[in-house]
Amino acid sequence: MGDEVRAIDKGGAEWVHVDVMDGHFVPNITFGAPVMASIRQVTKRLFDVHLMIAPADPYLEQFAKAGADIITVHAEAGPHLDRSLQSIRALGKRAGVALNPATPASAIAHVLDRLDLILVMTVNPGFGGQAFITAMLAKISEIKEMTRGRNIDIEVDGGITAETAPLVVKAGANVLVAGSSIFKGADHAANIKALRGAATSISA
Ligand code: ZN
Repeated sequence: MGDEVRAIDKGGAEWVHVDVMDGHFVPNITFGAPVMASIRQVTKRLFDVHLMIAPADPYLEQFAKAGADIITVHAEAGPHLDRSLQSIRALGKRAGVALNPATPASAIAHVLDRLDLILVMTVNPGFGGQAFITAMLAKISEIKEMTRGRNIDIEVDGGITAETAPLVVKAGANVLVAGSSIFKGADHAANIKALRGAATSISA
């Protein structure tokens, strides 16, 4: 993992997106804060930590101490989203909320003041390599409208490729997470360049 993180750092990735899965909120297990802390050592890039865990609140401090810059919790992961977001900011970190495909944008209408980032899941979380859900483009546009005039990043995660990147950027996303399309083959730098080229082609 350290080697892969070094490769994407050198290859031009701006952020390192960390998917933490618990085998409970999502049907898969990845790793926790100690492993994250060890890969934190190999790069200075911004660490964008996506917690697919429930409950998330008891673990926020661990991930903050392990070197997260942004901590994102799922709107569906607990009953007290507002409190979770306040806790993240109280730890001195940027606060994000993620929405599963079935969760409407309106779920976060009342926490916009607490948010630095909104993560629109463009697949159902739990596995890599899934196909992009096209219906999410309308949700991205809706969130872009909701957040107009605010300093909130709109991030997409799932099925992002050179084909889908221009679509999400056009809808309003400004942070694109990619796994399979970056780590395929040996040349991660070329993959990142191709993805960035596709993403920026429509705004040029
Ligand atoms: Zn993620």
